Amino acid sequence: MSGNAPSPKVLGMSYDEMLERALKSLPEEIRTPSGMEIPKAEIFQEAGRTIITNWKDIITKLNRDERIILRYLEHRLGTVGWIIKGRAVLQGLYKRTRINKLLELFAKEYVICDVCGRPHTILYKEKGQLIKKCEACGAWRVVERI
Ligand SMILES: [Zn+2]
Repeated sequence: MSGNAPSPKVLGMSYDEMLERALKSLPEEIRTPSGMEIPKAEIFQEAGRTIITNWKDIITKLNRDERIILRYLEHRLGTVGWIIKGRAVLQGLYKRTRINKLLELFAKEYVICDVCGRPHTILYKEKGQLIKKCEACGAWRVVERI
């Protein structure tokens, strides 16, 4: 054991410089979260209808056409809906937990990449099929038509 204290300067770099260099060399995946925030619906019920008040926020976070998301909810709930003044209105009374579960399923099926887990996907139609393609890793698959 030499007992020498570690030099504050190694290879002419200060500790801060070394730390910065170490951080820069880390793969991108570790520095940026690959997951996404799945939006939660804020709702109220009125006259036999369920109104989603933060619809615009949900659309922004899911980054999908609002008509597709509305159609998905309509089909899964077996009802009809409208978009009025930035809110979604669904015929019938539905619990917030049920709508949130559907938004979560929608995100997994139509937004999040199955391979890398990132939300950087696009949806497009090809030969009558609906395809989800990831712009981050290039993975794609056919998804159920909405
Ligand atoms: Zn991907």
